Amino acid sequence: MFIPTVKEIPADAETASHKLMIRAGLIRKVASGTYTYLPLGWRSLLKVIAIVREEMNKSGAQEILVPSMQPKELWDRTGRSTDYGPTMFCLEDRHGRMNVLGPTAEEVFTTLVAGEIKSYKQLPINLYQISPKFRDEFRPRFGAIRSREFIMKDAYSFDADPVGLDKSYKAMYDAYCRIFKRCGLEYVIVEAESGEMGGSGSHQFTVPCESGEDTIVYTEDGSYAANLERADVDPLPKEKATAKIPPMEEVHTPNIGSIEAVCTFLKTRPKDMIKTLIYSTSRTDIVKEIHAEKAKHDGRRHIISKLHPERDYAILVRGDHDVNEEKLRIVAGESVELAEPEEIRFVTSAEVGFAGPINLAEKIDKMIIDHAVAAMAVGVTGANKTDYHIKNVVPGRDFPLEGDNVIIEDIRYALEGDKHNGKKLLFKKGIEVGQVFKLGTKYSKKLGAKFLRPDGREAPCLMGCYGIGINRILASAIELGNDDNGIIWPISVAPFEVLVTSVNQDDEKVAQVAEDIYKQLLDNGVDVLLDDRVLRGGVKFKDADLIGIPIRVTVGKKSVAEGNVEIKLRCESQSQKVPIEKATDKTIEMVNSLKEQLKA
Ligand code: ATP
Ligand code: MG
Repeated sequence: MFIPTVKEIPADAETASHKLMIRAGLIRKVASGTYTYLPLGWRSLLKVIAIVREEMNKSGAQEILVPSMQPKELWDRTGRSTDYGPTMFCLEDRHGRMNVLGPTAEEVFTTLVAGEIKSYKQLPINLYQISPKFRDEFRPRFGAIRSREFIMKDAYSFDADPVGLDKSYKAMYDAYCRIFKRCGLEYVIVEAESGEMGGSGSHQFTVPCESGEDTIVYTEDGSYAANLERADVDPLPKEKATAKIPPMEEVHTPNIGSIEAVCTFLKTRPKDMIKTLIYSTSRTDIVKEIHAEKAKHDGRRHIISKLHPERDYAILVRGDHDVNEEKLRIVAGESVELAEPEEIRFVTSAEVGFAGPINLAEKIDKMIIDHAVAAMAVGVTGANKTDYHIKNVVPGRDFPLEGDNVIIEDIRYALEGDKHNGKKLLFKKGIEVGQVFKLGTKYSKKLGAKFLRPDGREAPCLMGCYGIGINRILASAIELGNDDNGIIWPISVAPFEVLVTSVNQDDEKVAQVAEDIYKQLLDNGVDVLLDDRVLRGGVKFKDADLIGIPIRVTVGKKSVAEGNVEIKLRCESQSQKVPIEKATDKTIEMVNSLKEQLKA
């Protein structure tokens, strides 16, 4: 069997799963973010796929397969070619037509349904596929966790009404719980932002572990869990001034624009600064509208007169806080991004770094102030004048905390010390293995997935979409299950359930006993691997620990002479002696008991 284990830790591998997948001979790198799955790796992936497929089918979803290579024009119609930007692989065919390698497949599934579904009587329907996805990730890393080509299970539900959508969503949510349980993963379900997918609700399934790139924010009692993009924080209590605050005072701060520099110069703390950032309507949004207009007009040249007007926003957060752009997008009601320097100069009449809220409300479309700024007794801020700041600024006295274009909201990232509904927020790292979204009508409207209601009127389908990263499940299982010697697999996704190791393969009796047990296990439907290499026991045990098969049956000269073999769980250090004639039954019993623990 082709199991090329290696001792050396690959130089570019940072996480346990990346190191071990290479060392245990599960994968080999082809290029940045692309991997070949070798026999052990592919066996495990197939086991994950089988679990996912079984639970999806059980939920009532139906499997299909759509092409990975899709016409870019479809993605232009929903505006997602610009959303994905450089993350989407594009290629031109010999006729000059542009295609994309699908990073997901909302467009193709929705177009399919648009062409086939006519009436509410054909709904609901949930279609899924298990297929390669392509994303030109800015930073492919951690092996199977963030690669550029990976296998995803993606499902799309179509319903006639919101109650139906809730039901379809719940069915997927429940199926996901069963899938991750069966794969042996500990997971946390967190509220998530639907972000660029556009929609009204979303949950992420996250495996808590140190090497995760996501941050889970939760309360100790388990009543709240969200990802960092989503996590709401309680407003801070209003600070009381210790003395009467003198009037504002302009101070000369030559060439000092950053928060740190101002703090050092004025001997103040970041938390006493009011950071003012100028944002404007996202330029990609404007480009998207142009694309959508073009698509509507059949790609014919068409002069688009009614362009998305750009709006400017002044965003105020405390100097030690960071703007959460997901929250900001929701408060603003549109996608926004940091304004270009020339726009900032125009709005503030100053160089970048000296923006402040004084007399700014009348110059911009909206001022969005974070709760924490509104709660400040006094602060330092930019003077809207190059090289100047202002001290003794009192929110409400020196700039408005109410008014037509003033909004006070939660627009920052949660931090250590913050609370949610009065309960302390805690933080931990996690790997996102799956996500479910309520999409609503974003795609069905744009791609014409409509149906006739019982009253004869036409309506767009209500959609949901549901993704699972197959490769990430494997990597997460290894992140959770490993020690210094190698992988410790959950039995459900291990490449084999049992490993029979003959320690003295050159001894005829030993070789025979090992072979017999191996065959009996095979006959009983156990997924078993026989290590009959003529090698030193130490080498074989090292490999066995590295590849991490859950149960090892060791057949050695000494114990065979006593009429025994040794059976050991990979996750335990003690082995037990079992009479040769009972070895097969005992092993089967252990396989079943390990499987039982993972039953959903
Ligand atoms: P991330 O935030 O980690 O980039 P995502 O939220 O963009 O992921 P989705 O669009 O929700 O990913 O895709 C569904 C699932 O596909 C994810 O939950 C994840 O398990 C998996 N996935 C996404 N990107 C990758 C990748 N580059 N490599 C491996 N798996 C991935
Ligand atoms: Mg996601």
